[in-house]
Amino acid sequence: MKSEYDIIVVGAGPAGAFAAATAAPECDVLLIEKRQEIGDPVRCAEGISKVGLSKFLRPQKKWIASKVARARIFAPDGTRLDVSEELAGPEVGYVLERKIFDRDLAKRAARAGADVVVRTRATGVITENGFIRGIEARHLGESLEIRAAVVIAADGIESQVGRWAGINTTLRPKDLESCAQYLVANVDLLDDCCDFYLGSAAPGGYAWAFPKGSQAANIGLGVLASKLDGKHPIDYLDAFVNKHYPNGQPVELNVGGVPVSNAVRKTAGDGIMLVGDAAHHTDPITGGGIINALEGGRLAGEVAKEAIRAEDPSAKVLKRYEAAWRASFGKKLERNYKIKDIFVNLSDDELNKLVRSLEGLPLEEMSVAGIVRRIISRNPRLLAGVRHLF
Ligand SMILES: Cc1cc2nc3c(=O)[nH]c(=O)nc-3n(C[C@H](O)[C@H](O)[C@H](O)COP(=O)(O)OP(=O)(O)OC[C@H]3O[C@@H](n4cnc5c(N)ncnc54)[C@H](O)[C@@H]3O)c2cc1C
Repeated sequence: MKSEYDIIVVGAGPAGAFAAATAAPECDVLLIEKRQEIGDPVRCAEGISKVGLSKFLRPQKKWIASKVARARIFAPDGTRLDVSEELAGPEVGYVLERKIFDRDLAKRAARAGADVVVRTRATGVITENGFIRGIEARHLGESLEIRAAVVIAADGIESQVGRWAGINTTLRPKDLESCAQYLVANVDLLDDCCDFYLGSAAPGGYAWAFPKGSQAANIGLGVLASKLDGKHPIDYLDAFVNKHYPNGQPVELNVGGVPVSNAVRKTAGDGIMLVGDAAHHTDPITGGGIINALEGGRLAGEVAKEAIRAEDPSAKVLKRYEAAWRASFGKKLERNYKIKDIFVNLSDDELNKLVRSLEGLPLEEMSVAGIVRRIISRNPRLLAGVRHLF
């Protein structure tokens, strides 16, 4: 590790690793990760769409625990909807092995020329005349200052790097899913199908069961922090697993948060950009964030290169990143936030009604927009607030 780089990326998740790999062929890049093992522990259900992933990378066998061709959505009363992979959204297609996937992304950044250093935690930013000029860090018990023209904050939910730079990355309880997940052994799941459970089993969120190889599954849920009702998400998860998978044996537990908010308002400033979960780029309805993390990372890496080439890391140049992600997935995030705000307040009875209104329809032959319009037309009172969005 040197004391000066063109670009420092904080956080070796998908967003950070992708930003580093994009910029490294042309610039001097440092990618730091506070954990000692990239990708571990896994805070993710690991679902990703095949088309989404293939836009960025050629899928490797070793990343994939299961291939999934469809999803089932269960209403609180057990009414079931069968949905094709294409209609099921950005989390259905593959169930990844993120311990391997994230590590491979970091190796990719290293192959592109980045210095990748683990057990190195950013502890502050260096600020001069309002410009971010680098970071303060702790590496194996040693305090360091590392300077750079551009700092990319890819440090996940409630980004501290962003906060140190004066950007508000805190989440209101109504915009934060509090999640718990077990890797469960000894479960008999359909191995080509992801299951989603709506309703009060996970208030303001949903529960999921994603197959992970032979007789194992990621079984988890997210509860809106404002609806936890004094409980921990693990309490909801235990109740859910006992009810639906009584023979399952948890072999790993993970807890974590997912932003289900609008994106951070300012994702670029003088010498700094925020990417991935740090920028609240997860989908507010599904909580999926891997694909937007890859896309945001790629765009930030490109703009960082431009800034280094132009010798101008000011907000004027870095704002091109903000314009680029807004043009790519910003509209969808805004729309889905409005929809989420309505869905999280539906009662079990209302969710039953919604799901039942789709029973018997040829969903496989319908477009997503067609399905949404049909739901709205059959439930005009419940969904009056989202009608104008379609
Ligand atoms: C329970 C759960 C289930 C999910 N399921 C899915 C799913 O099925 N599909 C999907 O697409 N998305 C899912 N997500 C969301 C997805 O995991 C994230 O959107 C994605 O990981 C975002 O990538 P990222 O690189 O922005 O952040 P992260 O993957 O969170 O990476 C941030 C990295 O920064 C490091 N870091 C933090 N602070 C510092 C510091 N000060 N110094 C150095 N390093 C630091 C962290 O250790 C971490 O490695 C889920 C999330 C949770 C919590």
